[in-house]
Amino acid sequence: MPNHSAHLIACHECDLLQREIPIPLGGEAHCCRCSAMLYRSSPGTFDNTLAFAMAAAILFVIANAYPLIGIDIQGNTNATHLFGAVRYLWDHEMLLISILVGVTTIVIPAIEITMMLYILLPFRFSLVPIGVPNILRVLQSIKPWSMIEVFMLGILVSLVKLKDTSTIIPGVALWSFGGLTLMLAAVASSFNPRDVWQRLDNISTRENQHE
Ligand SMILES: [Zn+2]
Repeated sequence: MPNHSAHLIACHECDLLQREIPIPLGGEAHCCRCSAMLYRSSPGTFDNTLAFAMAAAILFVIANAYPLIGIDIQGNTNATHLFGAVRYLWDHEMLLISILVGVTTIVIPAIEITMMLYILLPFRFSLVPIGVPNILRVLQSIKPWSMIEVFMLGILVSLVKLKDTSTIIPGVALWSFGGLTLMLAAVASSFNPRDVWQRLDNISTRENQHE
C-alpha cells in the first residue's frame, strides 16, 4: 500500500488537509478553503539562508569581541563590551535585567545561529544532520526571545540622550550589531522549513534506492 501521508499538508490557518502539488519556480500554493498561502517555490532560497546565517555568525562574533561604544566625559574615556554591560547590571544588583539582556541578546541569538548552521551546512553537502525535527521545534519556540533589534533600538535612544552630555564613540561592535539585526531578519524571511523537509526526503529516497 503506497504511503500517501508524506504528500499531505495541513493548512496553518484552517487545518484542512490537502495533497501537495508540484508548482513552477516562483509560484505559490494556496489553501483551497481559506486561500492562505501553503508554500512557495523560490529558487536559491536555501543557499541565500545559508549565506545570511554565515554572515550573521561572523557579525555575532565581532559584535561580542569588540567594544560596543566608547563614552568620553571631560577627557575620561570608557569603552564597554556587550558582556561587560551584562556584568555591570549584575554587579549593580539589577539581576533580572542583567539576565534578560544576556539571554535575549547573547544566549538565544547564539543558539539560533548555531542551530541554523547545524541544519543548513550539512544539507549543502548532501549530509543529514541528526535530530532535525527537534531542532526545528526548538528554533520555533526560542524565536520570540531573540531581541537583538529591541536592544539595538535601546542603544540608539540612549546614544541620542547622551550626546548632549558626553562624546559618544561608536565601536566596531555597534556597526556589527546593526548588520546582525539585518542578517537575522534576512534569515527569518528567507528560511523555509519546507526546503529542509524536501531535502530530507530527497536524501532518504536516494539512500533507499541505493540499498
Ligand atoms: Zn486553509
